[in-house]
Parts: sequence; C-alpha cells; structure tokens
Amino acid sequence: MSAPYPWLETAWQRLLPTRTRPVQALLLTGPRGVGKGALAQAWAHALLCEAPLIDGSACGSCPACHWLQTGAHPDFRLLTLQEKTSKEGETKMAAAIEVDQAREVVDFVRLSTYRAGFRVVLVNPANSLNLAAANSLLKVLEEPPLNTVFILVSDQPRQLLPTIRSRCTRLDIGLPSAESAVQWLSGQQVQDAQTLLGLAGGSPLDALNWTEGTELDVRQSILDGLARPKQLDPVALAERWKAVKLQTWHTVAYKWLGDLLAVRMQSRVQFNPDFNEVLTKLGAQVDLAKLLELSKMHAAAGRTLMHPLNRALQQEAWLIQYRHLFD
Ligand SMILES: [Zn+2]
Repeated sequence: MSAPYPWLETAWQRLLPTRTRPVQALLLTGPRGVGKGALAQAWAHALLCEAPLIDGSACGSCPACHWLQTGAHPDFRLLTLQEKTSKEGETKMAAAIEVDQAREVVDFVRLSTYRAGFRVVLVNPANSLNLAAANSLLKVLEEPPLNTVFILVSDQPRQLLPTIRSRCTRLDIGLPSAESAVQWLSGQQVQDAQTLLGLAGGSPLDALNWTEGTELDVRQSILDGLARPKQLDPVALAERWKAVKLQTWHTVAYKWLGDLLAVRMQSRVQFNPDFNEVLTKLGAQVDLAKLLELSKMHAAAGRTLMHPLNRALQQEAWLIQYRHLFD
C-alpha cells in the first residue's frame, strides 16, 4: 500500500522496512497540514495489522485492522486534546493534554498486550501535553515496556520537553514542492489550486480544507473589511464575524498582517495575491512599529486559540488597533 499522500512516500518507505523492529519512540515533525497525523495513523495500523501486506503496510481487512477502523483496538491508545463542556453548556477543545490522560496511558502500557503483538500509543499534538502530562509520559519513554511503540506528532517540536525529544527518533516531513502539491490538488478537482496553495502557505491539506465549506466566502468577507481600514466599523464587523470559526478568523487575519509586513519590508505579497493592489497601497501607509506589535500579539493569541467569553469585544478591540495602523 502506498503512503497516505504522495509526498509522504519517502518517509513511508523509510518506516515500512522497520515494521518488525520499529523504534520505540518516533517523533514525526513538520509544518501543519502536511499529513503527519495520517502518516502516524498508517504507521500504527501497519504495526498492529495481523496480516500485513508484503511491503509491511496494513491489510485493511483483518480483525486488528477492523478494530482500528472502529477505534476499538485494545492495544492502541490515542492521546489527544479532548472536548470539554463548560458549566454554561459550551463545548470547546481543551487547551492541553491533561495529566489524567497521560496517567491512563502509563497504566495501559504496563499491562500485557491483548493480541500478543505491538502496543501502540499515538500522541498528537505532542506539544499540547501539559508539563505534568509530559513528565508522566517521560517515565515510560525512558524505559518503554517490551513491544510498546510511541508515535509522537508535532508541528512545534521545540515546545516539547528536551528530555522527551531526546528519547525519540525524529522523522521530519517537509512541505511538498509547489508543483507536486498543485498536481495533487488538481487531482482532487480543486479549481485554482495555485492560488489556494499560496493562501494555505504551501500546505496542500490546508488548501484542500479551504475549498470545503464556506471558508473562501468567509475569507472574502474578512478581507473586504480589512481592505478598507479607514471605513471599517469595529462594532458592526465584530458582530458580523462572531460566527466565524476562530481558527479561520485567526489564519486569515494573520496572513493579512503578514502580507502588510511583506509589502512594507520586501515590496511583495506572499499570501493574498488576489488583493495585491490594495495590499501594496496599504503597506506603504502602515505604521511599522504598530504593525509589528499587533502581529506579535496576534501570533501569541494563536498559540492557544481559546474561545474567550467576550469574543465580540476582543475582536472589536483588535479592529480598533488595526484601524490605528493607518492613522
Ligand atoms: Zn490487517
């Protein structure tokens, strides 16, 4: 079986031959949206499949493969961010992988395996482990029980504890070349793959996400607002964008700020070529110090992406600050 995505083939071919003697702690790193998670899943399936194909990949039809597909394999654990419901009944993603979750995994790897094969723990995103969870996991990474394989996935490996990083064998996944990414996107019936790939910062999977749902319309609406800073009405816009997914708002605004900076510093637009004209004009007027400050604040907010209670108010404050860039 080939790799989950064509650009992962090299990494996949490095993993497969090690199937019978895999490294006990693998750290998959690389930018977001390159398919690290899919590769990690495929590797977990290959390790747990009980009738692997000749190349070592999973058969997809044995009992083990079936359990994995239904999320019920007794020798597999996924350690990831969980959804939480607040007292107000609002469901949101937890900001960190908590220590209770890590402890459950530690207990799990100390049991004997159900199927006499490997036991696999997938941690994704590994940089979301909070300190207590990371320390708990470190104990078993230092002396992994027999036949236990840890697969850690992270696009920000520097946020991992150095002691965890040093226990892992690292495999870096890079962005595919623009040519092969565009080719793949075109194969997925994506129109204007080149523009979308630029918007997604070169990530083919992010680019594909943009084509699904209403993301492109949302982007257009946000950028139409930001393109006219002098006329923008912070209260009305914050109200209108309240329903926009926080991740989408953050990415679109971040790339817009990035383009203003790129125009100012290098006289070129990087992410939003369709707004080239207006960005060039705005970039020439922008207050550089204020722009750097807003970009820094925006980047910091993006690292957690918590859902604030007073979101409209915060967005309003952001827009007022944005308008002042052009005073
Ligand atoms: Zn199988």
